[in-house]
Amino acid sequence: MTERAEGFRAPRGTYDVLPPLSWDWQALVRLALDLFAAGGYAPVETPAFEHTEVFERGVGQATEVVTKQMYTFEDRGGRSLTLRPEGTAPVIRSVLEHGLERGPLPVKLSYASWMFRQERPQKGRYRQFFQLGIEAIGTDDPRADAEVIEIGMRYLTETGVEPRLLLNSIGHPDESCRLGYNRSLVEFLERNVGRLAPEDRERVQTNPLRTFDSKEPKTIEVMREAPLISDYICDACRKHFEIVRGLLDDLDVRYSLEPRLVRGLDYYTRTTFEFVAAGLGSQDAVGGGGRYDGLSESLGGPPLPAIGFALGFDRILMARRPSDEGPGAVDVYVVAIGEAAQPEALRLCTALRRAGIGADLDLMGRSMKGQMKDADRSGARWAVILGEEEMAAREATLRDLESGEQERVPLDQLARRVSDS
Ligand code: AMP
Repeated sequence: MTERAEGFRAPRGTYDVLPPLSWDWQALVRLALDLFAAGGYAPVETPAFEHTEVFERGVGQATEVVTKQMYTFEDRGGRSLTLRPEGTAPVIRSVLEHGLERGPLPVKLSYASWMFRQERPQKGRYRQFFQLGIEAIGTDDPRADAEVIEIGMRYLTETGVEPRLLLNSIGHPDESCRLGYNRSLVEFLERNVGRLAPEDRERVQTNPLRTFDSKEPKTIEVMREAPLISDYICDACRKHFEIVRGLLDDLDVRYSLEPRLVRGLDYYTRTTFEFVAAGLGSQDAVGGGGRYDGLSESLGGPPLPAIGFALGFDRILMARRPSDEGPGAVDVYVVAIGEAAQPEALRLCTALRRAGIGADLDLMGRSMKGQMKDADRSGARWAVILGEEEMAAREATLRDLESGEQERVPLDQLARRVSDS
């Protein structure tokens, strides 16, 4: 490796999406947005950075994302800004800023965006990663929960991921529900603090639920005996969860109840879920989501119950069946023989492109043999050969690269001839 190349490596935890993978990348993003749109979810784009408070108040001061992982910086005007570590808080900020919640509800939105978290990079865990998400905002109808979950499962299945759905309800933050449970959990953790892995002890007070997420064997052992939220949630939350489960059964969406499933961001309430895929090792979650009925209020908005998910697109690409589809964007490769044909090749390519036909040409002055090789590499179905003789007759030789058959076609009829076949 030369010194110069060393100096220009992408930053740790980031990566480039290069062809041919980038073709699949683009196709799968489009598939997602189309599938989301078919459920009534309209695409939304929000800025890559927000005022830091959006995440502090939305995601939660005590969460790992906020305390340890945010890319926060002061801009030249002294404002504290943060590269978005997740997509939901910005979407709600945007809904509230533009008053979309005062229009017809629910507001159904989708996004496909880069997220940024300063985590320790490993396979499936990056500092810049790509998420696909949908949000159904302004409804607490359990049908919205079932709809959102079904859409996530269907997309993952269509990409070839073979997802499993883990499902739980974590109730709502009230004394009669999760707060009451939290107290029992803290009591339990305090009684057993000596048995917890040291790194998990400090969270006992600040974020006790997260202890369930620990990867430390000692802590996992302790948590097997911990009280479960499912035994504590209030009647309304229990009923809501029962209906969600019934609806998922109706829709043939299979799930496993996972009473220890808690999610890393504070805003979650009631239904929470995770999609996991086989073959990914320790980072096997390809997505997750849940209700976040209190998020709008945390951001200063009105009560606005909502549910959504975020899928880890990088992990989906790793977990799915690899596709054998090529780029398929170039239909025709124009081969110019001799200098005189070169401008004509560009003219012809442009005319074909203007007619909606994918066309490429040699820009390196290659020999005919070199150009034919490049034509094969391009994935084009046709080569259009422009030699002296063809030029004189205002024609081209059209060669079918699959069958090897060729014919002479007048230049002004080429576009029609190619699109007709
Ligand atoms: P979260 O926003 O933490 O609920 O994450 C939702 C999904 O995004 C996870 O299930 C992962 O698939 C993906 N994800 C989260 N963090 C990362 C990361 N640092 N690198 C790659 N994917 C991630």
